Amino acid sequence: MIKESLCPCGSGSAYSSCCLAVLNDHSLATTAEMLMRSRYTAFVRHHAQHIKSSWHKTTRPKTLNFDDHPVVWLGLQIRNCQGGLAGDSKGNVDFTCSYLENEQLCKLQEISEFSKENGLWYYLRGKCIVTKEKIARNAACPCGSGQKFKRCCLSK
Ligand SMILES: [Zn+2]
Ligand SMILES: [Zn+2]
Repeated sequence: MIKESLCPCGSGSAYSSCCLAVLNDHSLATTAEMLMRSRYTAFVRHHAQHIKSSWHKTTRPKTLNFDDHPVVWLGLQIRNCQGGLAGDSKGNVDFTCSYLENEQLCKLQEISEFSKENGLWYYLRGKCIVTKEKIARNAACPCGSGQKFKRCCLSK
């Protein structure tokens, strides 16, 4: 039996029973945190449809270009949630995620605002801070592969 792959959102659950289910059915995100996780996973897996449809219509960008986004995502950590539960209509999710971009390790910290309309959660807006740190080409790759950066994610 093939071991099922873990969800990119870092929940520790199988992809198929975690964010993949939400990517296929927006209504399965019953909390703001679940929508946050599925949106992160959608960026990792280039699932543009979910990113657009889960973006509030008042703040949704007209186009979404994955060329503007990093290729190597390293992980998501949910730090805190305020509201955003099944019985709420608003919620904030405080998270950090990291990725590699132009030989730099970037850490993005954001508090995202979510709003629920007609039973569906939507991403409204967020305030983020990004910090960047240059990685030496011979350093261990931040993805945790154990290989040198230049032989691993830098070559992607
Ligand atoms: Zn997930
Ligand atoms: Zn790597």
